[in-house]
Amino acid sequence: MVQKGPRPLVLCGPSGSGKSTLLKRLLKEFPDKFGFSVSHTTRGPRSGEKNGVHYHFTTKPEMTAAIERGEFIENATFSGNMYGTSKQAVADVRRTGKICVLDIEIEGVKQVKTTDLNPLLVFVMPPSIQELERRLRARNTEHEDALKKRLETAIREIEFGQQPGNFHIVILNDNLDKAYAELREFITQNVEDNDQDSVADENESNGK
Ligand code: ADP
Ligand code: 5GP
Repeated sequence: MVQKGPRPLVLCGPSGSGKSTLLKRLLKEFPDKFGFSVSHTTRGPRSGEKNGVHYHFTTKPEMTAAIERGEFIENATFSGNMYGTSKQAVADVRRTGKICVLDIEIEGVKQVKTTDLNPLLVFVMPPSIQELERRLRARNTEHEDALKKRLETAIREIEFGQQPGNFHIVILNDNLDKAYAELREFITQNVEDNDQDSVADENESNGK
């Protein structure tokens, strides 16, 4: 059983659309309010990524066994690697009383929609495939093959993201400050009452 708590926030969007960048800003501005759900993945760590912080890095046999034991809320294969949210990852955040934030791809979103988590669903949209490619290349984290796979997947993800009813909000990340302001506004409007108070309080103290 996943412990009950405030409504989680899901960020979804093509690889390179800016989810991590937006999340980093959100977690920095509201460190006591939001906690990141640390996913499991079978992909290797990128430079600077820490085990247990950015991901729990694991192997296919270990992750497959854990899924079979029923330890995951959702899981998917993305660009040849497994990814998934363990029940433990969400429980760890909820135990702190913070709002749990998940950064997951579309198959995971479809699965969490069938649970009782009832998350707020945000889709982060890149300005164009060309700009997405430029950002992914500039990030310099993927080999050519992996980059091509991510761009191919992006086309399907954008289609899914734009379909009415799949997300509560679609945020166009053409400009980072504007996109973050939109995310912040959405959260202020939609988080539960207690939480809304404290976001509103921070708005006041920031003079916003
Ligand atoms: P994701 O987590 O969705 O894969 P990232 O947050 O890693 O994407 O963003 C991909 C790259 O694009 C990063 O190098 C990031 O600094 C850059 N980026 C994010 N938002 C913008 C933006 N609005 N304009 C230009 N570059 C951006
Ligand atoms: P990356 O390898 O760039 O960190 O992530 C690749 C994709 O996997 C992104 O779309 C990201 O949202 C997604 N992802 C990360 N963690 C999870 C997870 O736990 N479950 C699912 N379904 N997708 C995830």
